[in-house]
Amino acid sequence: MSINLYDLTRAQLDGLLVSWELKPVHVPLLWNYLYLGLADSLDAMPKLPPKLRARLKAHTHFGVLPTAFETDSSDGFTRKYLLALADGEKIETVLMRFTGRVTACISSQVGCAMGCVFCATGQMGYTRHLTAGEIVAQAVHVARALRTAKEPHRLRNIVLMGMGEPLHNYDAVMHAIEIMRDETGLALGAERITLSTVGVVPGILRLAKEKRPLHLAVSLHAATQAERAALVPAAKKWPLDELMAACRTYSETTGRRIFYEWTLIEGKNDSIEHARAVGRLLHGLPAQVNLIPLNPTAGYTGAPTRTEAAKHFQHILSEEFKIPSTVRQRRGIDIAAGCGQLAVADRL
Ligand code: SAH
Ligand code: SF4
Repeated sequence: MSINLYDLTRAQLDGLLVSWELKPVHVPLLWNYLYLGLADSLDAMPKLPPKLRARLKAHTHFGVLPTAFETDSSDGFTRKYLLALADGEKIETVLMRFTGRVTACISSQVGCAMGCVFCATGQMGYTRHLTAGEIVAQAVHVARALRTAKEPHRLRNIVLMGMGEPLHNYDAVMHAIEIMRDETGLALGAERITLSTVGVVPGILRLAKEKRPLHLAVSLHAATQAERAALVPAAKKWPLDELMAACRTYSETTGRRIFYEWTLIEGKNDSIEHARAVGRLLHGLPAQVNLIPLNPTAGYTGAPTRTEAAKHFQHILSEEFKIPSTVRQRRGIDIAAGCGQLAVADRL
């Protein structure tokens, strides 16, 4: 079977060359071509020795993801790519330029099995996991697009907040992170990668045990089990008390603060009482709350909390509970590139 070069860590590339009885001394050249030169074919690697070129040609391929469609938001801050996978499936990847920093929001699955009621990806259902190579290829795609457009900034951050639940696809996601972190390649190190989970408890505990270098975000949305289960069906499998215990273990083991995401839905989870409930729930934990006013999706009728009410929510968190919070800026909504809006139209 042909090997996707984006599936391999640098050490695995070494191993591959050794298995071909070639000297791994050529790996730095190949790796530089892949992740510094962002080469998309052997033709773009002119200095490769002929024997290595022949082996690569026979046994490997570049899992480049062709753009099926791309759109820019009217404010120019966000670009969304619909990328084609080799089996005909499609995923979305978003490039965001906020405060001079370029962040790629990348997908971990085709669709999602978790079924959160207000999320377009959840509404399309689950098709399959992405491979590590398909995850890495999204970062490479964005890095290459920035270079082609001669943009002044290079890719700095990755958020695993696109389509899918990353901890449902744990092994491939962690393998991809290892490749993207490599300092001699894309160099997207621990402080540059944020993984957002709906609250897959075994995954959070495994992250803690393995001390994975990343920022963790947990999608909370409600501070009681009943309210949460109505919005996030996965909460029935991993109840709120188990989730909070896992978050506590994670913060204690890693010494890291967790970001708690709260999609603000008017009249549903945005009252003063809700703010106090989340304040009590997170009391004593190293936490920051990210408030995300609901973005519209085809399958959910709720409205976003208005700016004033969101500020009030924030005020209660900071004044009464000393919990820092931010309100996510609504960007890319005109091209359905906001949180929870990613989906593949023909699957909805
Ligand atoms: N599966 C992961 C990551 C992808 S979703 C997770 O659920 O955390 C990224 C964030 O967008 C999550 O916090 C999610 O709850 C939120 N989100 C989903 N749909 C949304 C919507 N319609 N409006 C605002 N935020 C939404
Ligand atoms: Fe899946 Fe996250 Fe959407 Fe829930 S919010 S359906 S976990 S992608």
